[in-house]
Formats: sequence, structure tokens, C-alpha cells
Amino acid sequence: MRPPPPLDAQMALFLDVDGTLLEIAPRPQDVSVPSGLPALLGELARQRNGAVALVSGRPLDEIDRLFQPWRGAAAGLHGIVRRRADGAVDRVANPAAAVALDRLRPRLATLKGAETGLILEDHIWALALHYRAVPERECEIRALAKAWVQREPALRLIAGKMVVEFQPTGSDKGAAIAAFLAEPPFAGRSPVFIGDDVTDEDGFAEVSGRGGIAIRVGPPKPSRAAYGLATVEAVRRWLAAAGRKVEATASLERQLPADVSPGENKGELG
Ligand SMILES: [Mg+2]
Repeated sequence: MRPPPPLDAQMALFLDVDGTLLEIAPRPQDVSVPSGLPALLGELARQRNGAVALVSGRPLDEIDRLFQPWRGAAAGLHGIVRRRADGAVDRVANPAAAVALDRLRPRLATLKGAETGLILEDHIWALALHYRAVPERECEIRALAKAWVQREPALRLIAGKMVVEFQPTGSDKGAAIAAFLAEPPFAGRSPVFIGDDVTDEDGFAEVSGRGGIAIRVGPPKPSRAAYGLATVEAVRRWLAAAGRKVEATASLERQLPADVSPGENKGELG
């Protein structure tokens, strides 16, 4: 896949978290956040008047814990919950899915049993079963999950990297990105979305359909994303280059008299 063009300050930026900004760890709680990353997100958000959102399968409180003190726009649980740039939180209500999840809880508890290699996360509006510690059980777990979801039309199954997730139908990362793009400060900007996993394909399709830039992280694979970056490290470098570019422009503006400062990004540097 082609490398993406440089990130422009006029573009709205959407970022997946695990496998995109952060290396995947054996357990979800073990990921590490490089010390400069929250500040870089803050800088990228400042450049575009707040039009940066994290779009993750994790709940919002986990996203906030990982990236503190940064606390900008974010979609959690693959778009079920969404914090707008102004801080207001939206949740997509789906009563039929809630009932279906209640039917699944006891089955998942039985499957997990005393097996410590399986981690069951109950996010109230979604359920996730991680098997990163027992990858040899992948076929068995995926087959069971698929059979259960086939009988639950209000749910969809996401078979991600070492995880199966039970999600309400109708909310996905593409829908979350579309909802952000209908509001300030995202509205009117060309979108960029970076992700690495199957759940990110909805986001890639949404962004590509709007003429934006969809970037998949990892080795080349069939995808709706037209652009690729090989590793998490490459994503961070690509983002950092954009952060530095504006820093350089801002310091140049400070050195120049107001009437000759470069105008391109001026309104957004604040
Ligand atoms: Mg990911």
C-alpha cells in the first residue's frame, strides 16, 4: 500500500488506539503509552481547532486513563459512546441489543469458567472476550461466538485480534466518524482515519467515500484503506512530523512582524 501524503492542518483526524497508536500487549491493561504521545495529540488537536478524535473499542474511561491529561473528542466501544469536541457524551441506545447481551452473559461466563487465559470484559452495552493468552483456542472460540450471534439479530460479532466482541448492530466506527463529521469542529474538513483491524474497515469505507485519507497499519492486506503505514512506530513518526511542522511554523510566526507572517495556518494556531 502507498505511504500517505503529509498530514494537513485543515484535515479532521480520527485515530484508532490499540495496534495504531499503541503496540498491542498480551493483556489490554498492559499497553504502554509513550510519554510524549498525549502532548502530540494535544498539539495535533490545537492545529485543527479540536478536530482530532480517538475511535476505539475501549470504553471512554480507559481511553482517558491511557492518554491523560489529554481528554479530547473520542468514540468508545466502537462508536456506542461518543464524546464530542465540546465534552458532551452521546450514547447510541439499542434496547434489543441489551436484552440479547443479557442472554449471552451466562454463556460467556460458563465458557470462561476458571480459565485464567480468557479475559471477559463487560462494558454493559457490549461484551468482549480476549484470548490473547490462549491463542490455540481461537478456532473454538470464534466458532462458538459466531453460532451465538447468528441467533441474535440485534448483535453483530467482531472477530478482532485475539478478541471476539459482541456489539449492537448499527453502531460501528464508520457511523461514529460520520457523526463527528456532522458537527463542529469536524464539519467541513476532509477526514483522515488510521486503524489496523477488521473493525476499522467501516471507518476506512466512511472516510474513503468522502474523499478522505484512510490508512491501514500493518503488513499489506486487502482493505478499504488506500494508504498504509507498516508499524505503530511509523504512525507515530508520521503524526509527529505534522506536529513538528506546525511548531516550526508557529515559531516562525513569532519571529516575523504580524503583517508578513505566513497566513496558511494562522487562524488555527491561536
Ligand atoms: Mg486497533
